[in-house]
Amino acid sequence: MSAKIALVTGSTSGIGLAIARELAKEGHTVILNGLSPKEEIESLKKEFEQNYKGKVYYHAADLASKAQIMDLLSFAKNEVGDIDILINNAGIQFVTPIEDFPDEKWEQIISINLSSSFYLIKNTIKAMKQKKWGRIINVASVHGLVASANKSAYVSAKHGIIGLTKVVGLETAGSGVTCNAICPGWVLTPLVQKQIDDLAARENLSGDDARIKLLSEKQPSKQFTNPEDIAHLVLHLISEHAFNITGTSITLDGGWTSQ
Ligand code: NAD
Repeated sequence: MSAKIALVTGSTSGIGLAIARELAKEGHTVILNGLSPKEEIESLKKEFEQNYKGKVYYHAADLASKAQIMDLLSFAKNEVGDIDILINNAGIQFVTPIEDFPDEKWEQIISINLSSSFYLIKNTIKAMKQKKWGRIINVASVHGLVASANKSAYVSAKHGIIGLTKVVGLETAGSGVTCNAICPGWVLTPLVQKQIDDLAARENLSGDDARIKLLSEKQPSKQFTNPEDIAHLVLHLISEHAFNITGTSITLDGGWTSQ
């Protein structure tokens, strides 16, 4: 496969970082994005430059802001080139019953976890269609398919992204562009570590017991998926063997959504 240009949102941590690493190892140019401190970004860029074949860029857009998303798109176009592979991965979580759910958190989660993907797809898809090749992968969640209590904004945004994936899959079917969603269950990243810490504090559990309890409640395999497992699914979805996989959702959830 020839080297492509990939934008991975939220790629300074967790799942996005694992995806960015695998793409760069394969020789693709990667635009990193995320909200980490400057020193962390510098050391990540160094890691990429020293170890992986693909070129690396970074843009600090806060995806809650449409203006910053447009700035990221201009940066890509002017400094890097047309985006061939768009990985909509950035996401945040907030857990509380709906009657206590702060309005600002709702707006923020809908913006970052859903609207940013709309703006990025809308503004990259024309060039993909013209080239007759493109891959859009939305990192959704099992929460795009089923719900959990106390996650009203997250579950709504993730259900929305599954709908968006289907529409874009239909609008691009047969064009050389595909659009799919990946739906992980529990993956041990900072986003989930916070939920483990909160559970441990709430129920007076050790870290290990909280981890086991979290898994046991939802994920029948009782095993976390690793960020690298998701990255390898991405490598398959961008390959030519996946040309006819589109508009769909693929779970990595240890059986969560089979129950
Ligand atoms: P993480 O917290 O480790 O990483 C999130 C990334 O998004 C970071 O790079 C962060 O800087 C970036 N980010 C956050 N807000 C941003 C903003 N406003 N603008 C730009 N970047 C921003 O989380 P993760 O677990 O790797 O999650 C990645 C994606 O996977 C999310 O969409 C999440 O919903 C989804 N997901 C995670 C799990 C899991 O168990 N960890 C399960 C299902 C789905």
